[in-house]
Amino acid sequence: MLPSSTVENYIKAIYQGQASLADEARLVPMGQVAAALGVTPGTATTMVKALAESGLAEYEPYSGVRLSSAGERLAALVLRRHRLVELFLVQVLGMSWDEVHDDAEQLEHVVSERLIERIDEMLGHPSHDPHGDPIPTAEGSMPAHHHDSLLTCPVSTPLRMARIADQDPAFLRFVERNDLKPGQMVEVESRDTAADAVRLGGKGRVALTIGTRAASKLLVEVPTAR
Ligand SMILES: [Zn+2]
Repeated sequence: MLPSSTVENYIKAIYQGQASLADEARLVPMGQVAAALGVTPGTATTMVKALAESGLAEYEPYSGVRLSSAGERLAALVLRRHRLVELFLVQVLGMSWDEVHDDAEQLEHVVSERLIERIDEMLGHPSHDPHGDPIPTAEGSMPAHHHDSLLTCPVSTPLRMARIADQDPAFLRFVERNDLKPGQMVEVESRDTAADAVRLGGKGRVALTIGTRAASKLLVEVPTAR
């Protein structure tokens, strides 16, 4: 019997691997799964075969792995626990948004369903965590969403920061220092991909130039009129 935290970490890595694939029908390569978990490809393959036997994933030798619908549901529930814990640590315990990810990585495997539903209720059934990541439902479904990044969004258009696709504490502090947290408004003034540069501005903002790599991790939405 495998420890459930190991199973959950594999399921989560495959889920995030699937999300990073351009074409949903494709399989996540085993090398990618192994790298995400910091294990050898042999170890990852043994584990993925065990997941396939328990009906959580479909494994195809020499091509890769994808989650079954039961696996996708489990992944969504682990992410629900992770994201609600992060929001709880920030909003209730007053922790900083750049220091909660590591604690949530541990707690996501141990918090009971009763506790997580209580947290959800106390926080008013939130839709997003502090980084803008959507919180899956208690039934294990992930809200559909698509965001442009500051690398792909329209230029000279007011945009609202929606999601930060990198949990690295130093990157999150950079985001906070430059007023780019979810909910804040920004505009792309110009892009120069040859120079790896994206120039940001917008109403009431100090002009700021960031690299294309950083821009690709900052997801935005065009605000809808209400
Ligand atoms: Zn996190």
